[in-house]
Amino acid sequence: MKDLKSLIYEKAYDLGASIVKTASVESWEIEPIQDKEFWPQSIWPWCKKVIVIAIPMYLPMVNSTPSMLYQELYNTSNRVMDDMAYHLASYILKLNYRAIFFPRDCYADINVLLKNPSAAFSHVVAAYYAGVGTFGDSHNLITEEFGPRVRLVSVLTDAPIAPDSKVNKDLCLHCKKCLNACPAKCFKEAKGKLYEYDKKACTEYHVRLSADNHFPCGICANICPVGNDIKMYRDNADISKQGITHIQSYGS
Ligand code: SF4
Ligand code: SF4
Repeated sequence: MKDLKSLIYEKAYDLGASIVKTASVESWEIEPIQDKEFWPQSIWPWCKKVIVIAIPMYLPMVNSTPSMLYQELYNTSNRVMDDMAYHLASYILKLNYRAIFFPRDCYADINVLLKNPSAAFSHVVAAYYAGVGTFGDSHNLITEEFGPRVRLVSVLTDAPIAPDSKVNKDLCLHCKKCLNACPAKCFKEAKGKLYEYDKKACTEYHVRLSADNHFPCGICANICPVGNDIKMYRDNADISKQGITHIQSYGS
């Protein structure tokens, strides 16, 4: 007889997850990163565990950013993840535990973020506590498998499954590639800490990209040298220079 955690993880992998990990809600308390109002247990007091699902953003497509191709990848990954999380929550309900999912973006329009650039719930923070990866200087979540080229979604539940361990090494190489490549100059070095991140500048840049149907930016994720996905293309360019120009010239 399979234990509860194996059943739930198997279901998540069957639904298409690449990485599945779990955090206990106590992590938000033990190592607070956000104000208490953002903690899952503050919003849903019955919630005991957060299951985080990650899927890859395919490197040769990410490399064309900003492009319609990348925009389609982003939109598709959002749809796929919401479907997976919806079905996983529904599966957990059938096992007689409470479960909901928090969708991956959850804002109406990029312009809304100009007023308040924060999400009601952070998948990045949940993924860090669950052991999916660590924070890069760029504030992206960095994974061994795909660097920051991942998309995340969370299922909140009271199913009594054991949490996974946090990643116990810093995956960021502190190489400054993201800092130097950001077209909106959003990052500023901060000694021994993640870069200071100008969310407003990033959002304003995204408003412009959105008007051009070249949304989102993702250059900081594209440039990051961490991730086994890069190794797959080591001997072959993941996309040619002419290919990038070609992709950016069509569809928007
Ligand atoms: S590009 Fe370099 S500094 Fe930026 S997040 Fe990746 S490893 Fe860290
Ligand atoms: S998404 Fe683009 S604009 Fe925003 S921080 Fe990353 S590189 Fe800069």
